[in-house]
Amino acid sequence: MMSNVWFTLSRLFAILHVVHYVTCTPESDSEETYNKYYNYAGLTRRLWSFVEKYPHICSLESVGKSAEGRELWVMRVTAHSERNEPGKPRFRYVGNMHGDEAVSRQVLVYLTEYLLTRYGTDPRVTELVNSTDIYIMPSMNPDGFEKATEGDCTGSSAARQNAKHVDLNRGFPDQFDQLPRVLEGDAPEVTAVMSWILHKKFVLSGNLHGGSVVASYPFDDSSSHIASGVYSHSPDDALFRYLAQTYAENHPIMKEGRPRCPYDPDEGFKDGITNGAAWYDVPGGMQDFSYLQGNCFEVTFELSCCKYPFASELHTEWKNNREALLTYMEKVHMGVNGYVMTSAGIGLPGANISVAGNNHNITTWIFGDYFRLLLPGTYNITASSSGYLPKTVNNVTVTEDKATLLNFILNTSSEKMQMPGFLASPVPSTAFTPTVRIFDNQGASTPEPLVHPQDIRHHSYLDMELFLQQINTVHSSITHLYSIGQSAQGRELYVMEISTNAGIDQPGKPEIVFVGNLHGSDAVGKEMLLILVEYLCSNYGSEALVTRLVNSTRVHILPSMNPDGYEMVFEAQKYFGTNSDFSGGVRYSSNQNTDLSKNFPDQSYGEDFVQPEKAAVMSWIKTHSFVLSASVLGGMIGVKYPNSVDSLDEDVFKLIAEACFVKYPFLQLSQACDLPRPKDRNYIKPSAPGIDMQTWAYRNTGTLGFTIGLSCDLYPQAKDLLTYWKRYHVVLLQFIQQVHFSVRGRVTDVQSGQGIVNSTIVVEGSRHHVHTSKSGQYWRPLAPGAYKIQAFAPGYSAVVVPVRVLETQVEQVDIGLSPEPLAHSEGQLEGEEFQKLLEDLSSTSGLEQLVQSLLPGGMLHYRTYRERSDFLQELTLTFPQITRLYSLGHSWEFRTIWALEITGNLESPQPTEPKMRYVAGVHGNAAVGPELLLEFAFVLCINYGGNPTITKLVDRSRIVIVPCVNPDGRELAQEGKCFSTAGLTNAHGVDLDTDFLSGSLSVQPETRAMMDLIREGGFSLSVNLEGGSLLVTYPYDRTTQPAHNEETLKYLAVVYAGNHLGMHFGYPGCHIGPESVPGGILRGAEFSNHSGSMKDYSMDVSLCPEITVYTGCCLYPPAEQLLSLWVEHRTSLFAMLLEVNKGLSGVVRDKEGQPVSDAVVRVNGSVLVHSDTQGYFHTLLPPGTHQLEIHAQGFQQQLWKVNVSSHQMASPLVIEFTENSTHFSQGVVLAAATSIITILLFSLLIWHFRSAKFVNGVRWLRQENLQMDPIVSEKSPLRGVFLEESESEDDAFYLEQH
Ligand SMILES: [Zn+2]
Repeated sequence: MMSNVWFTLSRLFAILHVVHYVTCTPESDSEETYNKYYNYAGLTRRLWSFVEKYPHICSLESVGKSAEGRELWVMRVTAHSERNEPGKPRFRYVGNMHGDEAVSRQVLVYLTEYLLTRYGTDPRVTELVNSTDIYIMPSMNPDGFEKATEGDCTGSSAARQNAKHVDLNRGFPDQFDQLPRVLEGDAPEVTAVMSWILHKKFVLSGNLHGGSVVASYPFDDSSSHIASGVYSHSPDDALFRYLAQTYAENHPIMKEGRPRCPYDPDEGFKDGITNGAAWYDVPGGMQDFSYLQGNCFEVTFELSCCKYPFASELHTEWKNNREALLTYMEKVHMGVNGYVMTSAGIGLPGANISVAGNNHNITTWIFGDYFRLLLPGTYNITASSSGYLPKTVNNVTVTEDKATLLNFILNTSSEKMQMPGFLASPVPSTAFTPTVRIFDNQGASTPEPLVHPQDIRHHSYLDMELFLQQINTVHSSITHLYSIGQSAQGRELYVMEISTNAGIDQPGKPEIVFVGNLHGSDAVGKEMLLILVEYLCSNYGSEALVTRLVNSTRVHILPSMNPDGYEMVFEAQKYFGTNSDFSGGVRYSSNQNTDLSKNFPDQSYGEDFVQPEKAAVMSWIKTHSFVLSASVLGGMIGVKYPNSVDSLDEDVFKLIAEACFVKYPFLQLSQACDLPRPKDRNYIKPSAPGIDMQTWAYRNTGTLGFTIGLSCDLYPQAKDLLTYWKRYHVVLLQFIQQVHFSVRGRVTDVQSGQGIVNSTIVVEGSRHHVHTSKSGQYWRPLAPGAYKIQAFAPGYSAVVVPVRVLETQVEQVDIGLSPEPLAHSEGQLEGEEFQKLLEDLSSTSGLEQLVQSLLPGGMLHYRTYRERSDFLQELTLTFPQITRLYSLGHSWEFRTIWALEITGNLESPQPTEPKMRYVAGVHGNAAVGPELLLEFAFVLCINYGGNPTITKLVDRSRIVIVPCVNPDGRELAQEGKCFSTAGLTNAHGVDLDTDFLSGSLSVQPETRAMMDLIREGGFSLSVNLEGGSLLVTYPYDRTTQPAHNEETLKYLAVVYAGNHLGMHFGYPGCHIGPESVPGGILRGAEFSNHSGSMKDYSMDVSLCPEITVYTGCCLYPPAEQLLSLWVEHRTSLFAMLLEVNKGLSGVVRDKEGQPVSDAVVRVNGSVLVHSDTQGYFHTLLPPGTHQLEIHAQGFQQQLWKVNVSSHQMASPLVIEFTENSTHFSQGVVLAAATSIITILLFSLLIWHFRSAKFVNGVRWLRQENLQMDPIVSEKSPLRGVFLEESESEDDAFYLEQH
């Protein structure tokens, strides 16, 4: 009874004082003086004064009442202290648990003040308060404190205990003692704090006491309860010692380990820390309860020898403890943290996190977030939750600096485990049922208690910048503000990412993007997106759907893509003060009249000017793995998607569009907008060149792009914005949700389990490919149906997985890729492997087997210029590791002449890799060649990584494909016209194959483009596809020129014709042209005698042999015949690729080992090739034995005899010029009379060859003994003799192969 009266009075007292303070006392606003203790009333007042002054970063709550009814005040200090934020660890300090231990009570008030007053100015404090949810309870035993006496250093039990005579630090459940330790109701403080601990799941805490100076860590007691000296280890003993020491070493007295307290002046603690039980047994303490049942690591700190020193000591005590208190708090950010989620990205509360080798588990909090403090090291960590399959991540590295982010995605037990490399069967995910129903159930009404932003207005660029920065500060735990570039006038293109752990690639989190304000005048999109930013942030943590979306999705919002254009309109709006009379801002900016929403380049390498905004957005979208994107705008109401998409993707687009709009009848009203409105004087007609952003994104990136229109007005009055928002925001939320209806998974290396970045996911039947993110994740939206998904990455064997998508279930398909059997390995072994491979391929039917084993391309159809450009760009985006697309120049009608380069060494060209060229479409009416080459390119790419032979060939060669030299003519040609000359010439009526006249200054632009490529040099072989007959021609096309090395040229033609299904029979069977062609090959001049041909130019200028393939009688057969034409030609096309790896290659060096460039390699008197700047050369020769002369300016000539095999790779010769011949420059004088000497020399030479050593399969020829080389120079009249003689020693000159 008595206590009840007291209780009532004391509350009244407290409240009165609060009111008193708030209304009239300025005293409490003053700064801390550190010279007096606060009694309960004073403490209460002081704490409330903080809330008054710093409401944005602190809040005060009571977690319960003491036995005498005093509030157990807890000060919460953190940015956004009014709510729980996922991903923010919770920390607590509890002081004054023993009422007579008073220092901590004061110190915690000082700490609170320190944090609050320094927030925003002190970076350390700001960071701590932003990132940590800090709870400070200055007094857990306010009743006891009221009984204690200032200056009483040893304390009294009456003040130590609570009002019911309970020692609160003996009142918690104990691990070794199952009985309740106190009578029910006797320790309401313990009950309240226990419930608080269990509810908050603190991550780290400090329990502050007095009476000594030491940090004491778990366990606090042992099963024996021996009073002292029993070290009671916890599973986290090392971590606890570290934590305890963190405090101790920052406390000037504690770190000494010699507190010299009067009661035991000799007491010592090594490093100022002690195991609790080893010091003295404390059953029922709070710290063990926190650790064992509260998910929380807790250490007890004794702050001072004197329990209740005079107030004059307080400032010193504060100074002694300040740094220790701060540093210890910061440790809440060590170890590993993240989320445990379902496959749909929904956080799982209460999931277990266990660390291998440690039997102490912690559990996730309400958002599925967890924080596992760990010392630096490497750990295997498992997440498990009832109803889900556990998941372990091995070798998680923990560093000292910052917590390691580790998210877990758990599949339900009913989902089948995906076996790496095996075909995955469809798996239902029960977690994410179609969320359309969420809205259906609630109809048109907005779910409560949603907070709609109040301050809705139009934002100028500066307003917007400020707005975004403020949001980013206030909601820092879920926002990430960045800029993707600048506008033409230098304004930032800001993007706000909203997500937990924003800015980081996270398992299970798809990315989505919104873009607004593409038109400067389109204010609706911009403002709707700004509202969306605020809406997501301010409802996060309180509203279920928003919280779930932000937890599970990375939402990127670019409110204004055209800030320059907007500023212009914004100013005009201010001037006119109305909303509808001005709409000039369709324009891009004042000086460039360009529509940013259109005119996306359909040639990524085009030379036209790309606006900086567009360039920034394109590169942003390309470099992210955005699954869905939407431009949000006014001028229409509804959802649009690109027109020309594959039917498979059309279904997906349609499904998503309908989910966003069509399913809400209440959104159907007044959808038709009258556009273009008559007042839009500057409206740019849709016929603007180029493509819109969505089409561009579909063709060039992994994202599916939509246009979402939310208002007919472009620039409504500010007051109408809220109306539009309330009516249509559901569309934006629904759109975010749609991303979760994707087939998704991870592509991993089966051996390491690591995700494979940028692997390609192809769905059969769709040209839209997606790529994996940094962590190997992919998302592929698909409509219900059955699909085949193929995953591949360079260096891995491709895997095909069947997937079934059901209407209400999303699929998780994890795909493990095995490294391809023939792994890259440099050196001899690889050479031998490749040699073996070439031999196998060169054997009878070897190539045919390869061709049969390839994944088919199946991309055959006739393509327009634009389709061809798209195809090439898509190919390079899909296979960025091995392809490069570039422009050789432009046609008369300014079409790009594309060159596609395919090689495994894109970044680091290998000087030894042979380079070859495939060209088509010199005559635009020969339509088959371009398509065969595109198919060829695609088959090479799609089999790269999966097929070891193709991988090797691509790795060891450089393939340049020019599918269409004459794009203008090609556009004119007509399908089905076998003999039409329409399109034969370029747009200026020139037959390009007569225009390759070296020395001509006025060649056609198409010719110039090819000439530049040919002159660039380095090509060892070229194949040009023509039409109108069925044969192969080899140089020269003009009659006058004798072919130096006709054998080689002829041989190459034979290879092509011989691998073609019918060509080698020699009966083209065409109405025009020769009836019979032996072997299917002819010298060019014999077939069509003309000068200025491309292949003659190639021979003359770059010594590169080129053959012309006439693919068939009909120039432009119906598309249905393309497949059989491909089947006829494909083996030949591969055969040429094989051939370029044979022949002869070598490197020419001087005696210092420096490369000798421009050395001339001749065979049988004909110049074959020059060495390049690196001294390398490569040339093709027919099988057989060949005489080589190698000559370089200033060096003696060398003579070689080599045997070229029809089934072996080119073995590199090492030509070493050891003697400078400058002083022999007049040696010709000698030459006339020395035939005897020559023969002598020749003998020496033979001897030398015979004794030469084999080094790495290459026979080295050393000539240091051969001094009289001028005699055998090419100018020597004895040269012929020499060569003839050498024939007799064939066997000695063979270059042996291993
Ligand atoms: Zn104590």
